Amino acid sequence: MRAATSSLPVARTREALATELRALRRSGATLGLVPTMGSLHPGHLSLVQRAAELADATVVSVFVNRLQFGAGEDFNAYPRDLARDVELAAAHGAHLVFAPAEREMYPAGEPRVRVDPGPMGDVLCGRHRPGHFRGVLTVVAKLFGLVRPDLAVLGRKDFQQCILIERMIRDLDLGVRLVVAPTVRDPDGLALSSRNGYLSPAERREAARFPEAFLAARHAFRRGERDAGALVRLVDTMLAPRPALRLQYAECVDPATLAPVARARAGTVLAAAAFCGRTRLIDNIVLEATAEAPACGGPSGSGG
Ligand code: AMP
Repeated sequence: MRAATSSLPVARTREALATELRALRRSGATLGLVPTMGSLHPGHLSLVQRAAELADATVVSVFVNRLQFGAGEDFNAYPRDLARDVELAAAHGAHLVFAPAEREMYPAGEPRVRVDPGPMGDVLCGRHRPGHFRGVLTVVAKLFGLVRPDLAVLGRKDFQQCILIERMIRDLDLGVRLVVAPTVRDPDGLALSSRNGYLSPAERREAARFPEAFLAARHAFRRGERDAGALVRLVDTMLAPRPALRLQYAECVDPATLAPVARARAGTVLAAAAFCGRTRLIDNIVLEATAEAPACGGPSGSGG
């Protein structure tokens, strides 16, 4: 089955995907993949544009992957609007949208064999969302298998996800080039997320305090603070007086291993998650010794 909106083909089945890919590849074109759960915003679209610059043809997948949601999480409430996503993907250079139904992705039900992220999947967000990264790696491995892209573009906002997918590609020899694109933010610094739509106007105002706390930590680092505990306490102290915000974790980690560090140094990543009301926000920043002009009000693009 192949549905078309605008001039952009939309493959809803794996057969339709295979047909479209054959046509795209006929000319020897290189293929870029942007995996998403849809509800596309300018953050996603920056990845589509990047893929379109780097590859001859760009496939955007839109699939809300049940496997990566925990019990009681927002799988059912997650925003879905495929027609809008297809229009936006088309306008930003995509050649094909792959939007499979659940039974297409998991025809035999939940897969028995899944990709184990190992210990790096149990820290940071993984500690609070057991099984989340196993679900992410499993669906991304399936998408790589179905699309066979030359490269995949991911967003830096999901820092742990990028590191784990990079390790999966390396450790399992999947032969996909990974490109990580900077975090796109609202003017007040809040990282764009499909989940930001859950925020009430009052919560949305409060949510801007979250990236502010990262900037405060970065400034402290630049002023010479190297004690990771002190940097984390600074984030905690900034968020504690805000009744709408509840810090879930903040940690300074080595970006290669995700191991916590006691002393921060240039390149250390500060990552955190916080609830704003019932909406979970995540963000991260690279601690850098030198100031650079931020792309917007929040943590800089390179660090977001
Ligand atoms: P999702 O639809 O949330 O699974 O995200 C799909 C891809 O978009 C992932 O690689 C995300 O890291 C990326 N992404 C989400 N939000 C942003 C953002 N604000 N800036 C850049 N990339 C993003």
